[in-house]
Amino acid sequence: MKRALTGIKPTGNVHVGNWLGMIDPALALADEYEAFYFIADYHAMTTVRDPAKLRKFTLETTATWLALGLNTDRAALFRQSDVPEVCELAWILSCQIPTGVLERGHAVKSAKDGGLDVNVGTWYYPVLMSADILLYDSDIVPVGRDQKQHVEVARDLAVKMNHHFGEGTLAVPTVSIKDSVATIPGLDGKKMSKSYGNEIPLWLPPKKLRKLLMKIVTDSTPVEEPKNPDGDTVFELYKLLASAEDTAALRGRYLSGGFGHGHFKQDLFEALDALLAGPREEYQRWVDEPDSVKQVLQRGSERAREVAAATVDRVRSRTGLT
Ligand code: AMP
Repeated sequence: MKRALTGIKPTGNVHVGNWLGMIDPALALADEYEAFYFIADYHAMTTVRDPAKLRKFTLETTATWLALGLNTDRAALFRQSDVPEVCELAWILSCQIPTGVLERGHAVKSAKDGGLDVNVGTWYYPVLMSADILLYDSDIVPVGRDQKQHVEVARDLAVKMNHHFGEGTLAVPTVSIKDSVATIPGLDGKKMSKSYGNEIPLWLPPKKLRKLLMKIVTDSTPVEEPKNPDGDTVFELYKLLASAEDTAALRGRYLSGGFGHGHFKQDLFEALDALLAGPREEYQRWVDEPDSVKQVLQRGSERAREVAAATVDRVRSRTGLT
């Protein structure tokens, strides 16, 4: 069976951009691929320096996958650091990559944009991410557009390794980006991101969610005038959540005039809340049962380690480490 792999950093609240951009497409792929989905706690260490927070975010991020319906009887859901083989593969890969590729890395740019320091971990991110992907002989990697460049680095590294050490040393992965959700906008209309502080957390209680959605930046067209739905953050988010019929109806109200942005934000709140009400309860149930979450991760890491050990053995033998 072909394999799908993706990861998410436990660095804070999982947000609507993570959900629509990656988690939801990845859940769909988990039906036809053998899924390896992980909580990227090694990656999170580039910014999270509080152990209690790292544990909390790891629990919450795992609970998010479970609440949104990942079937862990079929998919391996695991913590990146439970498979330390990834660090060995990262080292081996790092010997094949010119430093310039890392200088141009998206993670470095995004850290700089967010005013964060660029430590060696941030710089090394594409190598560790390549190891994440290549360790599991992944065929397909569902991600948001911001990760495209990293998956391309992984592809190049697999091709290079196969060139030096023989075909079949590492599987060459393919990126999977769903165009309609490749870049979900945040409260200010820029890409939604924890590092930009413009995110809509998935698991806010309804009242807080509504209040936050009211803060989405819109233009100042007066209530009575027609408004342009295209490019408007509220509409862009709404159309990803609502049926074609409801989306057409909302478009009509933008164009007709007589409705304010507050009305549209209320529609967005209702659409989002309707989808999240059930999962929100599930999420809370998992968060309140950390031992059950740990068991899921334990099971996932056992499966992941089997595959990882086989890959590392193969790479060691091909490269002359054994
Ligand atoms: P991260 O929070 O950086 O670990 O991202 C986890 C996944 O969510 C990655 O596949 C990202 O590409 C995806 N993602 C994050 N933010 C967005 C966004 N605003 N739009 C689409 N995908 C996103």
